Amino acid sequence: MSALPLRPELVGLKPYGAPQLDVAVRLNTNENSYPPPEPVVAAMEKALSGVLRELNRYPDRDAVALREDLAAYLGHGLTVANTWAANGSNEVQQQLLQAFGGPGRTALGFTPSYSMHPLLCAGTGTEWIAARRGADFDLTPQDAVAQVREHDPDLVFLCSPNNPTGTALPLDVVRAVAAEARGMVIVDEAYAEFARPGVPSALSVLPGHERLVVTRTMSKAFGFAGGRLGYLAADPAVVDAVLLVRLPYHLSMLTQAAARAALGQAAALLSTVDAIKAQRDRIVAELRAMGLTVADSDANFVLFGRFDDQAAVWKALLDKGVLIRDVGLAGWLRVTAGDPRETDAFLTAMREVL
Ligand code: PMP
Repeated sequence: MSALPLRPELVGLKPYGAPQLDVAVRLNTNENSYPPPEPVVAAMEKALSGVLRELNRYPDRDAVALREDLAAYLGHGLTVANTWAANGSNEVQQQLLQAFGGPGRTALGFTPSYSMHPLLCAGTGTEWIAARRGADFDLTPQDAVAQVREHDPDLVFLCSPNNPTGTALPLDVVRAVAAEARGMVIVDEAYAEFARPGVPSALSVLPGHERLVVTRTMSKAFGFAGGRLGYLAADPAVVDAVLLVRLPYHLSMLTQAAARAALGQAAALLSTVDAIKAQRDRIVAELRAMGLTVADSDANFVLFGRFDDQAAVWKALLDKGVLIRDVGLAGWLRVTAGDPRETDAFLTAMREVL
């Protein structure tokens, strides 16, 4: 690749991606461990067979029916005009950077956070600014506002619940940043459905904030990672802006049909959320009982440490057939909460390694 005239900001970058290894217990990418239940599979099959005979035509490029379903799922008085969908929330965020970032513009995020945010910036020529969190990965409204004021970015990423730390942001951080920021504020709520009781979504902050965007995904709670469907909720003007940069027909007829069928079975799909939260809470409690430091989690994963050599612990677990994630945060590792059997395997391996 070094012989190619690559854009300078991409030189030396590594493609994003956790190792996709064939091991017995895979708890490294925060997927939902539960496959779609049979009635959901049947509904998707029916929906897909309905569109297969129309594949000679392009799909609805504005995915109106799907966006209506997404707005209905979100509630909060949102309508089709407030929503937009793409192939995963990664694509939604890329479109937001294409519309509001780009060369000569900056985006700020509070690290450690989701490592795709800086990579999406690199891909869109947006300069990335790594702002800081507190010692316990916390973020206060004062600290967030001070750093936004200092850097005056064109976009701010807030991630709640935050990946890789797992903890949700208090809404006063969202409100304070939305009030201070000159540019767009994107709240990445990929894991919102797993939040502990009493943790509200930034959707409730949208009214009156034209530059605030909440991104969501069906990859986690809905167990639809392979289907690739992410979406956003925002003021209708934001949706109009994103329409300027989206590729025509970016969301295939198959994706739209399968996602609509899945949303129609939301109750059945989301029934796994409570089971996953129970495993998450069990992992937090048991790791603490082992004497480890564990971040509070509102997500389907748990960040724990501190290790002198987290890479060695990661490798020792892998040797026992348990794949978790070394997110490159010195001293810490992240494990996805899956089904009870996976938790058993992970905790047993952890006890052996310690
Ligand atoms: N945001 C966060 C914080 C994530 O952890 C992920 C998935 N790892 C995504 C967004 C992207 O999810 P998808 O593109 O599958 O919607």
